[in-house]
Amino acid sequence: MKRPIIRIFTSLFRTRSRKLYLANKEAARALVHERVKHFVDSHYGPRHGIAVGKIAIRNQKSRWGSCSKHGNLNFNYKLVFMPPEARDYVIVHEICHIKEFNHGRGFWALVAETVPEYRALRKQLRNVS
Ligand SMILES: [Zn+2]
Repeated sequence: MKRPIIRIFTSLFRTRSRKLYLANKEAARALVHERVKHFVDSHYGPRHGIAVGKIAIRNQKSRWGSCSKHGNLNFNYKLVFMPPEARDYVIVHEICHIKEFNHGRGFWALVAETVPEYRALRKQLRNVS
């Protein structure tokens, strides 16, 4: 990893500022839609038949993203401030939950297909969440 994510993101991760959210949510929505489409179209759709339901952008304090049983994904708008590799890991993580609704070996193997360095990214993000 080139930069330590932890120091950069701890205070940002804790804020619930509505002003910051409103100023950035549309940029976050555009970015998240583009990256989800990229990973689904280039890999997870054709290889694994994964289709994403609705995507929502939220102002959350305690998580970067989540996946519902119906394949709908939620993402924290603060992803716009993350380094690209960390942001992509969060996005791939939630996409993979559509097929593997757990954190078992099959799930991590699916993540590793597009984010082979997921372990280091996960470790860094866990320290902020
Ligand atoms: Zn997960």
